[in-house]
Amino acid sequence: MRKSPPPALSLEQRRAALEKAKESRRDRAEVKRLIFLGELNIFDAITDPRDSIRRMKVIDLLSALPGVGKARATLIMERRNISSSRRIGGLGQLQLKALGRELAVSKVDPTRGNLIVISGPGGVGKSTITNQLREDPRFWISVSATTRQPRPGEREGVDYFFYSHTRFQELIDSGEFLEWAEFAGNRYGTPRTPVAQWRTLGKHVILEIEIAGARQVRQSEAGATLIFIAPPSWDELVRRLASRGTDSPERRAARLALAEQEMAAAAEFDAILVNEKVELLISELVSLATA
Ligand code: 5GP
Repeated sequence: MRKSPPPALSLEQRRAALEKAKESRRDRAEVKRLIFLGELNIFDAITDPRDSIRRMKVIDLLSALPGVGKARATLIMERRNISSSRRIGGLGQLQLKALGRELAVSKVDPTRGNLIVISGPGGVGKSTITNQLREDPRFWISVSATTRQPRPGEREGVDYFFYSHTRFQELIDSGEFLEWAEFAGNRYGTPRTPVAQWRTLGKHVILEIEIAGARQVRQSEAGATLIFIAPPSWDELVRRLASRGTDSPERRAARLALAEQEMAAAAEFDAILVNEKVELLISELVSLATA
């Protein structure tokens, strides 16, 4: 039987495909550059959920490491029984673990890392907490996807993956999110694959998400630890939100109403930690998270 030729692409489709290819090349070049400069951990790239990176060859990524180069990268791949044509998205769990050992990614006994969810009302200090945990090699802080616009200084792939509504919906439909929710008119979601991969590598994974997302994790991941961060008092939270300054009175009222709802969910969590002194809170959090 004769095969029919593939359907010809319209000019518009060809343009879109070229644009996408260009974007992919740009993403890959940027990831390699950051790895070379030591600004990005190679496992952040290996667990990057973007298609452009998942289609990249493992060997190209390893070769970008300073002091490794193509020859050593080939050797590492051979020693770990990974085909030189393997793409990042195709790495199996055992191969990932083997690479983790090879590149000494984790000081933790790499059995399997815990999953920890941190939630709490806006203004309670969640980002200060996660920023401190980021410095601790036992933890990996999940990078969420969102449809909201980047704020000044926020970086793609570091603070969030900034997606269009269409792309976000595609990822929901294909089951790529561990959880997702709407918050203040935008969508936010946790990419599933990097969470699983980092846990395989032995890191304790932290999700800093709002309450509806925390509830979904409770449903789907029985072993997760859900931690609620509470302010020392309601008055203190009001004071902290007010000191953010730039909000209009309406916006502030809306934030307070939302915070009230969020506070009401505290009892659903495994633990409530009061953010009175941040150092104290972190040490309590670390012992819960690594238990
Ligand atoms: P912001 O826009 O200020 O960065 O975040 C707004 C809210 O979205 C915060 O409460 C934050 O915890 C939450 N959030 C961030 N990422 C995620 C996510 O992946 N899933 C869910 N459910 N909430 C998220």
